[in-house]
Amino acid sequence: MHRVNDATTELRRKVFEYANTRMNYSPAPLDNTETPENLFQAAGQTITDEGLGSKALDLFANVLAPATISTDHPGYLSFIPCAPTEASKLFDLVVSASAIYGGSWMEGAGAVFAENQVLSWLAKEAGLPETAGGVFVQGGTLGNLSALVAARDHARRVGKTATRWKIACSAESHSSLKTAAAVMDIDLILVPVDEHGKLGDTELRKALEGNTDGLFAIVATGGTTNFGIVDRLDEVAKVAKELDVWFHVDGAYGLAGLLSHHTRDLFTGLEHADSFIVDPHKWLFAPFDACALVYRDPEIGRLAHTQHGEYLETLTNSGEFNPSDYAINLTRRPRGLPLWFSLATHGIDAYREAVTANIELSHYAARKVRERDYLQLVRDPELSVVVFERIGWTLEQYEEWSKKLLAEDVAFVVPSSHQGRPNARFAIVNPLTSEKLIDEILESMAD
Ligand SMILES: *Cc1c(COP(=O)(O)O)cnc(C)c1O
Repeated sequence: MHRVNDATTELRRKVFEYANTRMNYSPAPLDNTETPENLFQAAGQTITDEGLGSKALDLFANVLAPATISTDHPGYLSFIPCAPTEASKLFDLVVSASAIYGGSWMEGAGAVFAENQVLSWLAKEAGLPETAGGVFVQGGTLGNLSALVAARDHARRVGKTATRWKIACSAESHSSLKTAAAVMDIDLILVPVDEHGKLGDTELRKALEGNTDGLFAIVATGGTTNFGIVDRLDEVAKVAKELDVWFHVDGAYGLAGLLSHHTRDLFTGLEHADSFIVDPHKWLFAPFDACALVYRDPEIGRLAHTQHGEYLETLTNSGEFNPSDYAINLTRRPRGLPLWFSLATHGIDAYREAVTANIELSHYAARKVRERDYLQLVRDPELSVVVFERIGWTLEQYEEWSKKLLAEDVAFVVPSSHQGRPNARFAIVNPLTSEKLIDEILESMAD
């Protein structure tokens, strides 16, 4: 199995050829989903005593891959798409081929050095001090949880006590904060947003009045997933400071908006954050799966998260920077490297331009929605999410339309809803999504 022989050389050639073909598509087919029954019928039992040999790749190419929707297709506009640069995709292959251990400096120094430069750059964009730092974790859910665990650990270390720990965030916050609260067995205060969908100091003060016992963190969202709305970070930061609690910013999707001159000012106040997250697999053009978790004072993260064990102490005692120590993880792929390579190759300006172009396309889409009398904008886009209604349509009509768009390989736009009313939602993070495609999708809703 480990010798390089003719069969492995051939397998390598075929796999590279497959990857090459996939990357040469412009765009790749959207493909579709499939039921387990149909997949079993087509693929059968793939785990066998003798192995399938080269048939495994054929099976993936012909049966399994077509049953996975291409999240990098320019018409994939649902949820939050993933539109990695070619450089970042290629480098993901290199990371796999290199078997790098990204948990410790001792083993992964070069990789950790590169990842840390990316984290420092993000910290600098956010206005945090040069000493800020952290780690790339699997996703925003784990990033938020790790930040909040560090925040509570810190509260305990400075002598705070509580019968019941709690955090506050807006009612529009991401579901992962509810998950974090459940995992940590803490209470979650969901604060109503103002008429602009934002969390601000007035609402926050009102919700927290007489309710701060055990409060150790306030979370603001830097771009809600549903609408792309950025909370009033400066106001939230002020309240957090007054109450002497941790200020975390969940920017999993939206924080990339910092890079555009159109939206940079929305993030005023981010410089006060004790921690923030942003997912490169959302709006920083990197492949699944990566979340940058940055602490103002990384030492707080380290104290909270370092695992101790006899076989690990040689790493812990080294005094070196071990990424594993900054989140709930030990073994880790250096998942920040695809973004590092792409950033190092293309430069920051290319990223500023790409984010700016997405924002401009969202405003184009909003304008076109306004121009069509059968459509109605639910809210003006703030970042790159556009939510609108097809006047008169029931949820079933949205679903039928959505299925047809996917079947015709045009776009993947699943219905969403707001205050009980169904709507359509575009999340635009792909530089290949065009005005022409937006027009085509809007036109398809005419009748
Ligand atoms: C997507 C998202 C998350 C969760 O991130 P995952 O990478 O999906 O775990 C958290 N917060 C916000 C605002 C998000 O958009």
